[in-house]
Amino acid sequence: MALKVYIDGELVDEENAKISVFDRCLLYGDGVFEGIRAYNGKIFKEQEHVDRLYDSARVCLIDIPLTKEEFARAMYDTMAANNLEDAYIRAIITRGKGDLGLDYRKCPKPSVIIIAASIELYPEEFYQKGLEVVTASTQQIRSNVMEPRIKSCNYLKNILAKMEAIRAGCIEAVMLNAKGEVAECTGDNIFIVKDGVIKTPPPEAGILLGVTRGVVLELAREAGMDPRETPLTRFDLYCADECFLTGTAAEVIPVINIDGRPIGDGKPGPITLDLLEQFRRLTRA
Ligand code: PMP
Repeated sequence: MALKVYIDGELVDEENAKISVFDRCLLYGDGVFEGIRAYNGKIFKEQEHVDRLYDSARVCLIDIPLTKEEFARAMYDTMAANNLEDAYIRAIITRGKGDLGLDYRKCPKPSVIIIAASIELYPEEFYQKGLEVVTASTQQIRSNVMEPRIKSCNYLKNILAKMEAIRAGCIEAVMLNAKGEVAECTGDNIFIVKDGVIKTPPPEAGILLGVTRGVVLELAREAGMDPRETPLTRFDLYCADECFLTGTAAEVIPVINIDGRPIGDGKPGPITLDLLEQFRRLTRA
């Protein structure tokens, strides 16, 4: 059965889901997006994702033509049209059709696109054995140039960093900021554990404020730990006892090697595995 895609209020077959060649998202990456999961028919952290999407759009002066409630309903309608209970949802808001110039006022109507598909999970092996990652030479952009908290459709720097990972035989890369501090990975946030303390870079390091990151910080607090949002360097990564990544698609995934250096004893650590289990319990409940 052809995938049904939501475009501007209609659910259409995938092959009829089309946008104009004058769409600003195509011409300039002028749009914002979200990647969201649904488990057992329920959208996970719906409010957080919708809020982040609307904040991203607001900063870009893109007026989403739906209320947040209507937007959530549209996501559920798209899932239902595709008979999906467990789904990966990609929501995209483009500034819409304009001319070839940059003037945003010439794009009167933003487009809303929602794709709900089956999630392609990382192989279970990665969760059991852990990932190897590398530091990319492609840096995270400075927030006074482009705010990383905007989840914009400009992902070229992340793609360039991901290329470095793939060419080094990995699937993820760590991106540093202009100060040389650890920021995040190409599509995930990063955490370490050192002497029993969970640490992750703060918002000022230039990161997307990941929804999964927020959930993991909360799970750690509920477990009586005192996780820290603190600047990290490669020194901290290389000397960490444990390392893991968080993201909507990856959930919580252990890292066992960074730049050819084993982390801890080169196996997924106990705190990482415990958080992974707690995260799975929460989402599969
Ligand atoms: N950083 C970047 C650059 C990302 O693209 C993502 C995934 N959307 C994340 C972090 C993780 O965010 P979340 O947990 O909200 O998926």
